[in-house]
Amino acid sequence: MPTGIVGEFLELKDGTDADLLAMQCGDFYEFFADDAETVADELDLKVSKKSSHGSSYPMAGVPLSELTPYLKALVERGYRVAVADQYETDDGGHAREVTRVVTPGTLLETSDADARYLATVVRAGDARQNAHPTGSSADATDAATGSGDIEGPYGVAFADVTTGRFLVTTLDDLGDLRAELYRFDPAEVLPGPTVRNDDAVLAAVRDDLSGSVSVFDAEAFAPGRAAHAVRDQFGAETVDSVGLDSELAVRAAGAALAYVAETGAGVLASMTRLTVYRPTDHVDVDATTQRNLELTETMRGDREGSLFDTLDHTVTAAGGRLLREWLTRPKRDREELSRRLDSVDALASAALARDRLRETLDGAYDLERLAARATSGSAGPRELASVRDTLALLPALSEALSGTPLAESPVAETLRRPDRDRARDLHDELAAALADDPPNTKTEGGILRRGYDPELDDLIERHETAIEWIDSLAEREKRRHGLSHVTVDRNKTDGYYIQVGKSVADQVPEQYREIKTLKNSKRFVTDELAEREREILRIEEARGDLEYELFEELRETVAATAELLQDVGRAFAEIDALASLATHAAGNDWTRPTLAEPGTLSIEAGRHPVVERTTDFVPNDLRLDEERGFLIVTGPNMSGKSTYMRQAALIQLLAQAGSFVPARSAEVGVVDGIYTRVGALDELAQGRSTFMVEMQELSNILHSATEESLVILDEVGRGTATYDGISLAWAATEYLHNEVRARTLFATHYHELTTLADHLPRVENVHVAVDERGGDVTFLRTVREGPTDRSYGVHVADLAGVPEPVVARAGDVLDRLREEKAIEAKGGSAAGGTGTTQAVFDLSSGSFADGADGADANGAGATGVGSGEHATDEGDTGSVGEPRTASEPRTADEQPAPNPETCAVIEELTDVDLAETAPIELLSRVQEWQERLE
Ligand code: ADP
Repeated sequence: MPTGIVGEFLELKDGTDADLLAMQCGDFYEFFADDAETVADELDLKVSKKSSHGSSYPMAGVPLSELTPYLKALVERGYRVAVADQYETDDGGHAREVTRVVTPGTLLETSDADARYLATVVRAGDARQNAHPTGSSADATDAATGSGDIEGPYGVAFADVTTGRFLVTTLDDLGDLRAELYRFDPAEVLPGPTVRNDDAVLAAVRDDLSGSVSVFDAEAFAPGRAAHAVRDQFGAETVDSVGLDSELAVRAAGAALAYVAETGAGVLASMTRLTVYRPTDHVDVDATTQRNLELTETMRGDREGSLFDTLDHTVTAAGGRLLREWLTRPKRDREELSRRLDSVDALASAALARDRLRETLDGAYDLERLAARATSGSAGPRELASVRDTLALLPALSEALSGTPLAESPVAETLRRPDRDRARDLHDELAAALADDPPNTKTEGGILRRGYDPELDDLIERHETAIEWIDSLAEREKRRHGLSHVTVDRNKTDGYYIQVGKSVADQVPEQYREIKTLKNSKRFVTDELAEREREILRIEEARGDLEYELFEELRETVAATAELLQDVGRAFAEIDALASLATHAAGNDWTRPTLAEPGTLSIEAGRHPVVERTTDFVPNDLRLDEERGFLIVTGPNMSGKSTYMRQAALIQLLAQAGSFVPARSAEVGVVDGIYTRVGALDELAQGRSTFMVEMQELSNILHSATEESLVILDEVGRGTATYDGISLAWAATEYLHNEVRARTLFATHYHELTTLADHLPRVENVHVAVDERGGDVTFLRTVREGPTDRSYGVHVADLAGVPEPVVARAGDVLDRLREEKAIEAKGGSAAGGTGTTQAVFDLSSGSFADGADGADANGAGATGVGSGEHATDEGDTGSVGEPRTASEPRTADEQPAPNPETCAVIEELTDVDLAETAPIELLSRVQEWQERLE
């Protein structure tokens, strides 16, 4: 075992379960052995060698002042890093101990504006397992609940140490859990013991997670311990009054608190408020829907182009965080929504006042974050000055409002919500204490203002007097001793000295003691100077100590007002988010939605909030209500079905975020959930079966949606054989219409479904119109009543730049298929020549059958009639050979292709013009046909 520094390092490392250890050695934090290699690899540091006990160990270090960015980089790569700080021992030596473990979910030092959540997840069963870690009752419990069982309920806590936000809830099942995890996007998740051991749940959690999963002491999740931690933190009364009565939620909350406490970030105190929420407070928007609607990132994973990115005009980090929260957690509470809408309304129509508000807010620092830094003791003088300057904005904002239309609006109320007297007191105290522009370190001095503390003032004065004495010493000495070339200065090795030019160095008085000879001068000290120096050092030390002490007191005062700072920060964030919504509304001609009872969604000239930014958008109407609850949306590919449906969902969601909406007018009934299923791009990438995923999503919707929900289905049943698909889509429509009764928009390429409108009272058809003239298709982007029976795949291929011969040929093939005629394969002559191979396309199998014999050159009458299980729908873009939709379902009696004579007869039969043919002639022709068919 190595001894010395390396030995100490390895011993400390042994005692922590962190991945890496950074140990302070003087002015550096060092990593040794394997840790040094890892850190050097990750962060591009140089590795040197440290010898200990005859062996040499890799060593990598970072300067003290630069630890934070390195820690941040390591933690963001998923490492948990223990930090051991050095302290002086009684005997004057140095020792070290681990003071904190920095983990992704407890990293305080973040420059990023986003919230940074730590999440804990517990499920029933965890408790008993804890209570009997090895006992048989635990096994029995597991067997009873089935450890593979993914049903809930789950208790979940979300803690953001950087802002002090602490939210707790109970969720019914894994779907809800995934939705919440996707929404909060935690940097770190701590699964409780049962969850941790359940592959299915863990896999589901991991799938959606960009953060890391950490293992934490099972004991912390135990009911008794957790309840204790929660009461300790928030007070028994609070815990009772907020209604935290679910044991699962308490356990999740307790474990989160224990983890924050144990990792030692020291921010536990910033968690001032326990927010318990019920899933029913918010619109149920599952993870799939959040992704489909591209709320915070696009399907491709980019932030740019998301709804949040489009709407975000906030000027502060906290405002951005809140806006994001509003969009991802839309509300059901009409009162709250009305309040937000009133504010947006007022702000939207008061451009000048709004601009002034935003300009003022622009100077605000992130009070929630500053509060957390103050409570953890890591806030420096500049950060306290930021608190001071931000608090000063409270009266400034009121002033910006006064005399404007906003003075009477709920915006002014929002500003009155925090305790303004206490905020002013704190501001005044900081203003009286801190220098205007204090240095960022606590050791430089100059942090505090004159007049703040008499003792400090006295020290400063004495310091100044002593310095003045020194400053004028050179002049005095010159005069007194008739010396020229005298200067007085100070450096680290010599302290204060009198420097005299060589030419006059032998004229110095005898009390001058020489301390150094330089090339052109000599340095001296005198007893008097040495005494002054000692005095200055004493004063400086006392001043530094006192200033530091006073500063710490000040910081503690600020830390003690964490809750107040959070309130003020929250009010600023709200105004920023509201002003952002108003700015967007005003700049893009959005309108205030009218909130209505559930069941209505009536939009006049609605647009897609994101697509309208980049496209010359064609607005469309939509009406869903009691009598008209289910719309089947048809139209060619690329015509705009999907956009139309998404814009409906987004308008619904925006209204329930408290935002204006892109429409001329909108009446929006408050819904309890928005559910969507659209093409499963990313699941494909994850290698899961698309059809399975599609059915899981459908299943989830059919289970979760209620009469008060909005459901968007963009194709159902596409991932399976045509008849399977139609049947499923058909049955799902009936179920949604008859049982669930949710308001639904359903885009389908199964034209058959449009007939449902004739049978189900609340189903109606709409289609996205196209203009087809001269062989060209123009997308009109206009939604009209009634079904369409055409789609225009070949045209889309043309638009996409598929080579002209292919497009022309596809058009040709399509015509044949429509007419159910045989198609000859070009250029595939078996004899090796060019020209044409006669082939028969068998519509029932979707492949070419050997029908060349006797087929005429046009292929006319060769195949298909009566055999088309998969008679074609017009032009899905799929290649010939793919199973196709039946435009009219046929009985699927499989028959061999009829012979050419039969086909000729049928063709003649088809061609007969009954109006022009005499009955007697008809009779004779029928007789002739009968003979030919024999
Ligand atoms: P579909 O679902 O019918 O295949 P999409 O909704 O994906 O079609 O729309 C196809 C394209 O048309 C998209 O690029 C979209 O930007 C554009 N688009 C859709 N609706 C409109 C509209 N109302 N106005 C202008 N462009 C639109």
